[in-house]
Amino acid sequence: MQVLLASPRSFCAGVERAIETVERALDSSAEPVYVRKQIVHNVHVVADLERRGAIFVDELDEVPDGSVVVFSAHGVSPAVHAEAQRRGLRVIDATCPLVTKVHAEARRFAARGDTVILIGHAGHEEAEGTLGQAPGSTILVETAADVARIQVPDPRRVAYLTQTTLAVEETSQTIGALRARFPALAGPASDDICYATTNRQRALISTATNADVVLVVGSANSSNSRRLVEVAQQAGTPAHLIDDASGIDPAWLEGARVVAVTAGASAPPRLVDEVVDRLRRFGPVEAEERPVTAENVRFALPRQVRPARGVRSAGEVRGS
Ligand code: SF4
Repeated sequence: MQVLLASPRSFCAGVERAIETVERALDSSAEPVYVRKQIVHNVHVVADLERRGAIFVDELDEVPDGSVVVFSAHGVSPAVHAEAQRRGLRVIDATCPLVTKVHAEARRFAARGDTVILIGHAGHEEAEGTLGQAPGSTILVETAADVARIQVPDPRRVAYLTQTTLAVEETSQTIGALRARFPALAGPASDDICYATTNRQRALISTATNADVVLVVGSANSSNSRRLVEVAQQAGTPAHLIDDASGIDPAWLEGARVVAVTAGASAPPRLVDEVVDRLRRFGPVEAEERPVTAENVRFALPRQVRPARGVRSAGEVRGS
């Protein structure tokens, strides 16, 4: 069996930063460290941090007044920040800087009087946080078909933004539908789909077209992992989302000579190694990296957990 490893895959800079933020908060705090929502959408990451002592909660009312709380990589609305302040919580904000950028765009467009159309998935935490930046001026659309249904006060004052983890091709169709309906449509310099999402989709398309089946390592609530499955399927190759090697169904591999493997931005790299090891149980495996680009993006840690000058962080050591 030939195994094509799509590259880039697995952790992005925003996920590495968020995980390291929780690790450093745990290392430096004698008190409990609470994390609002899953720090990133991956069951293994959450279980690992739980084992180290992190306490995951859904909402701030589960956090005692005055405690340390980390906000997840997906970002929160200003209302959540305000509640944390009112309760005297000591917030460490692990929101990915690329999500923070979208938040700033939402406030800027709304402040100048635009209706903001957010292309995203209803109920996803990132979409919730962005909608909350200008709740009275923002409308969510999920697909190009939704565009015909929306009502805006002034069709000449409309701007769009996108969730960072969408399918590139599908999103450009939705933006096209918005532009057709609102010719004066404003937007960011380029869409907000982040470099990590774009690179993982590009890498997978180039490998999936040469494979009989695709395995995507990632959790069911991970938006970018689910988009990878869709992108492979649209390329014409059957694709399956698995949390880890134990999720492989041998029936998927019957007759498959070439298997493409990738992982969403929130899935740890070791899980991909374990998948390749598991594939060896089905016969000899020849694994091959298929890079389409190299990533060297790094984000500074939140101020509260940033190492003192001259001291290298765990992530910098890992990445060197
Ligand atoms: Fe940030 Fe993109 Fe990673 Fe999300 S997927 S954490 S936006 S770099």
